[in-house]
Order: sequence, then structure tokens, then C-alpha cells
Amino acid sequence: MIKLFRYLKPYRFAMITALLLVMARALTDLFLPTLTADIVNNGVVSGDIAYILRVGVRMLLVAAFGGVCALVGNYFTARASNGFARDLREDVFRRVESFSLNEFDKFGTSSLITRTTNDITQMRMVLMMSMRMVVMAPVMSIGGLFMAISKDATLSLVFVVALPVLFTVVTFIARKGTPLFRDIQAKLDNLNLILRERLTGIRVIRAFNRDEYEKKRFEKGNYDYTATAIRVHRIMSVMMPSMMMIMNLTTISIVWFGGIRISYGQMMVGDLMAFIQYGMHIMFSMFNLSMMFVMIPRAAASAARINEVLETQPEIVDADVVKKADAKKGYIEFENVTFSYPGAERPALRNISFAAGPGEVTAIIGGTGSGKSTLSSILMRFYDVDSGRILVNDVDIREMAQSDLRSRIGYVPQKAVLFSGTVAGNICYGKDDASEDEIRRALEIAQASDFVDAMPNGIFSEIAQGGTNVSGGQKQRLSIARALVRRPEIYIFDDSFSALDFKTDARLRAALNKETAESTVIIVAQRVSTIMDADRIIVLEDGEVVGIGTHQELMATNTVYQEIVSSQLLEEEIA
Ligand code: ADP
Ligand code: MG
Repeated sequence: MIKLFRYLKPYRFAMITALLLVMARALTDLFLPTLTADIVNNGVVSGDIAYILRVGVRMLLVAAFGGVCALVGNYFTARASNGFARDLREDVFRRVESFSLNEFDKFGTSSLITRTTNDITQMRMVLMMSMRMVVMAPVMSIGGLFMAISKDATLSLVFVVALPVLFTVVTFIARKGTPLFRDIQAKLDNLNLILRERLTGIRVIRAFNRDEYEKKRFEKGNYDYTATAIRVHRIMSVMMPSMMMIMNLTTISIVWFGGIRISYGQMMVGDLMAFIQYGMHIMFSMFNLSMMFVMIPRAAASAARINEVLETQPEIVDADVVKKADAKKGYIEFENVTFSYPGAERPALRNISFAAGPGEVTAIIGGTGSGKSTLSSILMRFYDVDSGRILVNDVDIREMAQSDLRSRIGYVPQKAVLFSGTVAGNICYGKDDASEDEIRRALEIAQASDFVDAMPNGIFSEIAQGGTNVSGGQKQRLSIARALVRRPEIYIFDDSFSALDFKTDARLRAALNKETAESTVIIVAQRVSTIMDADRIIVLEDGEVVGIGTHQELMATNTVYQEIVSSQLLEEEIA
């Protein structure tokens, strides 16, 4: 938790102001009972109305001053703690942005979301409370005790009994509660996970009539979370009544013993009243102080979770001195590359070697799970290779800046992803400053103009969250347009034509051929018809290259390729 305090630094002035104001407020609270004592001792007892009014007005003024201090003080604590939370959230977000896919796999998306939102909120709340308490409680308890003793030292002996009792009860309860607070955050993670799956998978859930099942799963997580929360609150709810009981018993004893002392003429009525108020202040601040001991472990649990994110170093980072790869354009070379996913038993790709240059189309074909998408991922450096190296324009991609590498590549992922916003906004993801003409041109080549023009606002039509208001094939074409608008040196199409009908597929490829004539193109495809004309076809099986060549060459020599072709011809004949 201490480590996160550095985020408070920009707010030190707000904090100091807040603390001073809270202190002023505490002092007024300590001062008010002496005025009460004055009024009762010197005004009420002798019936001096003028005196009562005079001191009364002073009390009002002091109370008003205290009120204003509290108000402004709370404003500054809110400012400091919310600013702290905002800065922290921003840093966590930025750190997560820098993560490579390894780290995403490690934390899980849901947990990253909870950590960025709920955990930071927990810290913010505790911070706000502590800023209010940290001055208030010691000043009020020590000052209160001091004032009480100065009013009547003998009667103060009551606190010798009351305070230890209060402290014991509160710490006992707090001890029981804190382990549960840690549980709560973990259960919230789980609840979040279920909820996310339920919301993103709604179509599948409906289609398979799994509503009931999902509902049960959510209910289970929800009850689990609720049960823990209830347990915590049940424990905590004992706190308030027991504290009130102790406080009231203390007040009764003060009145009891105070009454005796008054009847012997050892104490004045006003002083007794002041004494009761001090008693309240002392007990309350003791209570608050112990509450802090409850809250702090909870915040510490959250802080640890946040720190874990902040301290995770992304595995893939740019080298200190990065090389530019401007000498050539569009040259790719895989040199004996082997790669395994973290934790996987066997490599997803083994001993891959090939080279591609501008103006060439390299196709990758192979069964599902043969490593085609993995090959594009490591070329984009989403993961680092185990051995061998990948060169782009003769520079090892680990020596380039990631942004430099990726800016050279127009990537169309296997699973098209669109963002909420307009069509144009989504296309501009490829190139920030794309003009309207460039956007239209990219859409034209991607065979997306027709349906985009048919949308109510053309290229300024809204795309719903997750791109749910366009079809799979339309999504693919938009994500192709997004890659096209960059006019990159290298194109990677990962199975990007699978959702298109044969006619659109053919038209799109004809248009693409013209557009990408100068670039290096890597096409991952299932259909032989899509890749027949490629300059080089790489046949992958179980992560290994089992053949490289043109269609004709492979047809003549490669059995795996022959099988793929014949199975597809059969399908077409049947169709
Ligand atoms: P393809 O695109 O050819 O269908 P992939 O490249 O997606 O195949 O996957 C190749 C292999 O790597 C598969 O066996 C798959 O189980 C594994 N794999 C893919 N993605 C991951 C991942 N993120 N973590 C672990 N293993 C993965
Ligand atoms: Mg794939």
C-alpha cells in the first residue's frame, strides 16, 4: 500500500489543507463543551438570561465556523482521494495497454477489469475516510481526555474502565472480519467473469437454450459473493450496537458518579454536561480509530492486487536502442523459427523457414490448429519466438520498435473486431489522418461500399458495441478496409475471406491484387481457390512446414496438399 502513496504526491496541498481544516474542526468540537459548561454554571444556575444569550451566540458562531471547516475540509479530501484514484487508474490502464498477450493470459480480462475499477474504488474510499479520521481521531481522543481530566480528574477514572472494554470489543470484531474482505475481492472477480461470459456469449447461450444453466451459474457466483458479503456485514453490524451500548453505559456511569460528586459539592452541573460530551467524543474517536484498523487491511488487499498489475513487467518490450528497418521495404524472413505458447507442452510452430518479398503473395494453408494464426501472431510480435529469428527488411523484429514493426503491417485478424463508433472511425484505426477519399477508396476495394452506402448515414453510420449490427462477412470486409487504408508494406490476411461468398471473394481478390501489387502479402486461407495463384504456398501440418511451392509444384509432389485439394474439389462437385 505504501508504494501507492506516491500517487498522493500531486495532491499534497489539498491534503494538507484538508488536514488543517479537519484539525480546526476538531478544536471547535473540543471548545464547545467548555461553553456549555459556562452557560450552565454561570447562566442557567443564576438565571442570567443576558449571559446565556451572549454565550449562546458565541457557541453558534463557533459551531458555524466548525461546520464551514468540515465542509471545505471534506471537499479537499474528496478532491485528493478522487485525484489519486484517477491517476492510479490511468497508470494501471496504461500498464495493461503495454502488456503483451502473455500477461493478459496470466491475469485474465475480468480480473484486470475489477482491479482497475472496484479495487481502486476501495482504496479511494479508505483514503478519504482516513484523511478525515487520521487527524480527527487522535485530536479528539487525546484532547478530549485532556479536557475531561481538567474538568474533573476523579470522574475521568470512568474511562480507565470504558476504553479498554471498547478497544477489546472492536479489535475482536475486526479480527474476524478482515480475512473475509480479501475473499470478497476474489469472489467479485469470479462474478465478473461469469457476467462477462454471459453477456458476450448471449447468442450462443440462447441458441443452445442454456439460459437456465447460465442463470444457475450466475446465481451460484452471485450467492457466493453475497454470502461472504453478508458474513462480513453480520460481523460488522455487531460493532455498532455493542459500541452504542458501551457508550451509553459509560454515559450512565458518568451521570451516576457525577451526580454523587455534585451532591457532595465537588462538581458543577455544567461541568458534568461538558464531561458527558467529552466522553462521547473520546469514545467515538476511539471507535473510528479502530474502524480504520478494519478498513486498512481491506484497502491493503486491494492495493496488493493493484500493485501486482503495476509491477508486472511486460515480457515484450522495446530494446533500449531500436533499429530502423528502412533500408528495404516489405522483406520478411523466417529463419528456423520455433515457438511455443507459455505453458504449452509442445511448440505450436517448429523450424519454420521461408522468405517473402514485395510483390509476392505467400499463402499459408493447413488444417485447423496447424499454427497458421500463430504464425501471423509472432510476425506481429504478439509473442516472442523461442529460437530462430524473424527478420523484417533484414532487421530482427526484436530489435525494432514494436510500433515501427506494426506500422508496416496491415493486419486482418481471423476474428474481425470492430469498435463502437462510426464506420469511418473504425477505418481510421488503420490510419489516424485518413481523408474521406482514402476511407471511401479502402471501402471500395474491400467490397464494402455497397452495404456501407446503404446504411442510414453512409460512412458515418454507427457501429454498435462489438460490431453486432453488421454481419460476419461485412465485419470482415470492414476490417480488411481498415488494413488497406494504411497502405502498408506487408499485409497479413488471417483467414479473412472465410465469411464471404464465392462471388464477393473473387471480386475482392481481383481488386486486392491491384492494390497490393507492390506489397508483400501473406494470406492464410482454407479454400484452395483463394490461394491457387499465390507465388508461394506454405503447407503447414501440426506446426511444421510440410511443403513450400506453387500450386503446380505442390500438386505434383505434395501429398498433404493433394489431399486438401481433392477434398475441396469433391465438396465443390457435390455443391
Ligand atoms: P490455426 O490458425 O492454424 O487454426 P492456431 O495458430 O490458432 O491454428 O493454433 C495452433 C495451435 O496453438 C493449436 O494447437 C492451439 O491449440 C494452440 N494455441 C493457439 N492459441 C493459443 C494460446 N493463446 N495459448 C495456448 N495455445 C494456443
Ligand atoms: Mg487460425
